[in-house]
Amino acid sequence: MLYDDFYVKSLIRTVDDWPKPGISFRDITPIFTNPKGMRMVVDAYVHRYIDSDITHIACIDARGFLIASVLAYELRKPLVLIRKKGKLPGETISQKYDLEYGSAELEIQVDSVKPGDNVLLFDDLIATGGTLVAAISLLQSQGATVKETAAIIDLPDLGGSNRIQSLDIPVFALAAYE
Ligand code: AMP
Repeated sequence: MLYDDFYVKSLIRTVDDWPKPGISFRDITPIFTNPKGMRMVVDAYVHRYIDSDITHIACIDARGFLIASVLAYELRKPLVLIRKKGKLPGETISQKYDLEYGSAELEIQVDSVKPGDNVLLFDDLIATGGTLVAAISLLQSQGATVKETAAIIDLPDLGGSNRIQSLDIPVFALAAYE
């Protein structure tokens, strides 16, 4: 299916002042209730990564799981879940990161990636980049190489994509909102 930028953007709903005043929340749920839209979004990533040297797809709890799991199925790659603290059994390592107010913590299972693995890291949206940078350091701490980060949405004014690119990791997003 030919990628239609206008159509995909029409499936991203902006909810002003949610979850708190001053935040414009970019709601991607209409993508998932539109089978054509979901296929178009997944196909865009399939097209980009089908001939790449990516060996693993890692994704961030919870909206990152939605597209990345379909992509991993389609590309026949292992899917690595990076979850909020306390959700993964077994031996894990964790990384704290700052949110606008307060902090959060992500975890990965220690045996999920290893040196030599080339990882595509996926989340739904890049704002300040704090979430993705924490996930990058978890993957790198296990010796994996993060080849690229991908998201549906980039908010470049918040600096996250620049922050990730300054680590020499490319960023690929389908839609940007200034
Ligand atoms: P950050 O760590 O600042 O890059 O924030 C990225 C994470 O927070 C992503 O997992 C998003 O799901 C969520 N997020 C941040 N800002 C927004 C926003 N304006 N709309 C929707 N989700 C957001």
